[in-house]
Amino acid sequence: MLLPEPIQNLIDAFSRLPGIGPKTASRLTFYLLRAPEDIARDLSEALSNLKSGTSICRTCFNITTANRDECEICSSSSREAGLICVVEEPLDVLALERTGGFPGRYHVLHGALSPIEGIGPDQLKIRELVARVRTGEVREVILATNPSMEGDYTAAYLRQQLQPLGVRLTRLARGLPVGGDLEYADQNTLLRALSGRQEMVE
Ligand SMILES: [Zn+2]
Repeated sequence: MLLPEPIQNLIDAFSRLPGIGPKTASRLTFYLLRAPEDIARDLSEALSNLKSGTSICRTCFNITTANRDECEICSSSSREAGLICVVEEPLDVLALERTGGFPGRYHVLHGALSPIEGIGPDQLKIRELVARVRTGEVREVILATNPSMEGDYTAAYLRQQLQPLGVRLTRLARGLPVGGDLEYADQNTLLRALSGRQEMVE
């Protein structure tokens, strides 16, 4: 059966999203077709403003509102500039912020090292992190990459890069679900991992 092109186009667009198979893509499309006009219109407006309404913080590389050079955390004087928590994704910042227990600032790598997937240091914001630490203002870097193989590998690589700069290096305490994402950990577990962080030694 051939579907009208606008319907097929939306199904195809949904299908390209992570976690959405052809069945879900069709269901969402037909839902929108039948739903009140404003549901589809709100979705369409939100989508077209997604890119134009956001930008990347030039210091920590977290997502921020468009037309801002720095995000709210980096430009806040009440956040410790000497304490940096390194995470893989912007959603990890959100998870840590929800705990309300982190007084420092962040650095978002935008991924983790993965030799298998061909992701090397140049594809992540690692050079920028080293430059940031080199300014001398930073006294501790918490390596809060995910407790997964790639996350551990990335933390080990960062330790190698940052250790010569004489900064204190810590890793979140064990207790986070192994192989899981930081963003899915509950607040208490994250707070415990944060306060129980350990020195990274060779
Ligand atoms: Zn920032």
